[in-house]
Amino acid sequence: MPVAEIIAIGTELLLGEIQDTNTKHLARTLRDKGIDIFRATLVGDNSTRIANLIREAATRSDIILTTGGLGPTVDDPTREAAALAMGVQAEFNPDLWQQVEARFQRMGRLPTENNRRQAFLPRGARVIENPVGTAPAFFGMVGQALLVCLPGVPREMEFLLENAVLPLLEERFNLNETIHAIVLHCAGVGESQVDEWIGDLETSHNPTVGLLAHPGIVDIRITAKAASLAEADQMIATTAGKIRERVGSAIFGQDADTLESVTAALLQVHHLTLNLAVEDQQIPLAGRLNKAGATPVEIVPFEPLDFDSYLTSMQQAICKNGSSVGLCVATTHQEQEKRSQLKIALITRDAIYTDFRQYGGPEGNFPVWASNYSLNFLRVKLLKLTTDKE
Ligand code: ATP
Repeated sequence: MPVAEIIAIGTELLLGEIQDTNTKHLARTLRDKGIDIFRATLVGDNSTRIANLIREAATRSDIILTTGGLGPTVDDPTREAAALAMGVQAEFNPDLWQQVEARFQRMGRLPTENNRRQAFLPRGARVIENPVGTAPAFFGMVGQALLVCLPGVPREMEFLLENAVLPLLEERFNLNETIHAIVLHCAGVGESQVDEWIGDLETSHNPTVGLLAHPGIVDIRITAKAASLAEADQMIATTAGKIRERVGSAIFGQDADTLESVTAALLQVHHLTLNLAVEDQQIPLAGRLNKAGATPVEIVPFEPLDFDSYLTSMQQAICKNGSSVGLCVATTHQEQEKRSQLKIALITRDAIYTDFRQYGGPEGNFPVWASNYSLNFLRVKLLKLTTDKE
C-alpha cells in the first residue's frame, strides 16, 4: 500500500488565522482508501521551503499532496516550489491559459495579467482541470513520488480530490485496501491504568491500538487495515472485545457517544428527571445535559447552605416527586496550593451517595474535568440502578 504525505501551504495557517481543515479532510479520505499517512506539515508561502519539504517527502513517500498557494498573486508559491522540487522550469502552457480565459468568460469577467501566472506549470506536469474555481491544479513526478498540487479553497480541493485525484491514485496504485477506525471512550480511570490493562494490544500492528487522554476521559482508538470494510470491522470487533473484557464498564461509549448522551439515555430508561445543583457556574453540566436531550433538567439554584444541609433539603424536594433524582456538585479552590476539589452527591428518595475528589491537572481544564467526572459519577450510579433491577 502506498504511503502519502500532506503539505498544507499558507502563511495564514501558520499565523493561526485560519484552521487547516484541508489536512483533516485529505487524511480521512486517504485513510478510507487504505493509504497510510506518513506525515502532515504546515508551511508558509515560501517557495524554497516548500520545495525542500517536497523533496524530503519524496525520499520516503509515494504520494505527496499539497493544498493552497495556487492563486494568481506573487505570494502564491506552489507552482514555483513544485518546479524547484521537480528540478525543472515553470513554463507557460497555452492550453491552460485558454482554460483560465474560458473560466473567466463563463463568469462574465476578463482575466488580469496576474492570472497568466496560473497558466505556468512545471515542465512535465499535467493539468487537473478545475471546473469549480479559478486555480488550476496539476500533478507531476518528484523522483519516484507522485506530487499532486491542489487549491486551498476547501470546496475546490474536495471536488478535485473526489473527481480527479482519487481516480488517478486508484489507477496508479491499484488501491484495494481500506482503513477503518473506531474509538472507545472511557471515564473514571486514568490513562496509565488503561495502558496497564491493554499495553500488549498497543504494540500490535494491525489493528493498531492507541490511547488519547482528555480531562476525565480516555479514548482508545482501534484502527484496522483490510481488503474490505467488513473485514476491517471484523478485526476491530475482535480487538474491541478483548479491550471491553479488560476495561469493563469504564468504557461508556463508542465514536459519537458522549458522557452526556449515555447519561441522558440512562435517565430516560429509568423515567427519571434530574434536579441539578451546580455551585460553580463555570462547570458546563446543565448545558451539556440539555443538549443531549436530558430534559427537563431542573436547575436548582445552589443556596448558601453548607453542602450537607443542601443535600437534605434537596432530598425532601425529591421525596415529593418520586420520579426525580438530584445531582449536587460543589467545588473548593485552595488558592495557595493551587488545588481544586470536587464534592458530588447523587440524591434519590432512599439514599444519598457522595464522592469527594482532588483535582491534579492544569487549572484551566478543571471545569471540563469536573463536568466529565460528575457525569460519570451519575452514569455509574444509574448503571447500578439498572443492574439492581435485573
Ligand atoms: P485561490 O485561487 O483562491 O487563491 P489557492 O490555491 O491559492 O486558491 P490559497 O490562496 O492558499 O488557495 O487559499 C485560499 C483560501 O482557501 C484561504 O484564504 C482559506 O480561506 C482557504 N484555505 C487555504 N488553505 C486551507 C486549509 N489548509 N484548510 C482550510 N482552508 C484553507
